Amino acid sequence: MFASPVAKSAGEAISLPSGYVQMKSGRCLFVLPPENHRVADDLADTCDEAFERIHVQLDMDGRGLPKDSHLEIRIVDVPGNMAAISPPGSPPPPWSSAVAYPYYNLIILSLHHANGKPVENLDVVMEHEISHLAMREILGDKRVPRWFSEGVAVMQSEGWLAMKSSRSTILKITLASREKLAWLMPKQPTL
Ligand SMILES: [Zn+2]
Repeated sequence: MFASPVAKSAGEAISLPSGYVQMKSGRCLFVLPPENHRVADDLADTCDEAFERIHVQLDMDGRGLPKDSHLEIRIVDVPGNMAAISPPGSPPPPWSSAVAYPYYNLIILSLHHANGKPVENLDVVMEHEISHLAMREILGDKRVPRWFSEGVAVMQSEGWLAMKSSRSTILKITLASREKLAWLMPKQPTL
């Protein structure tokens, strides 16, 4: 989901929360409590890949995040901790466990839902939010129906999950190299 304020000129920095550590991976900067650093390890490759793929799929052709800027992913344990690391005056709704702030190039993810259950497929949730950021970058102040932006985000996240599952199965069966599989599983799914 989006959070206000919407994009004006993306890239404004916000202060880092104290007690959190930073981990940089490609275009992605993870900010999270030190005890959860393995979550960043698990998400790093997906974040970088998803960032590039989603921008290609949306035909952004160089628009969006400047080359020397990064996408920031803040991770908390429970939704109740999200507001404290949100941009000033823009806390997410209390029921939310994932939110994107286009104006700040920022995504906040919770490891648990508001009901206490762990968030499954956190990588897919992250990809969904990256799609929202990219879409907002394209649209600027223009509005599109919610079903459209949500539909694109679902396709760009969950559609890729299905493809990853298929590739994983093929890898287990054939133990083939990525290069050999490239023709079977093109890196860029068709929109
Ligand atoms: Zn959404």
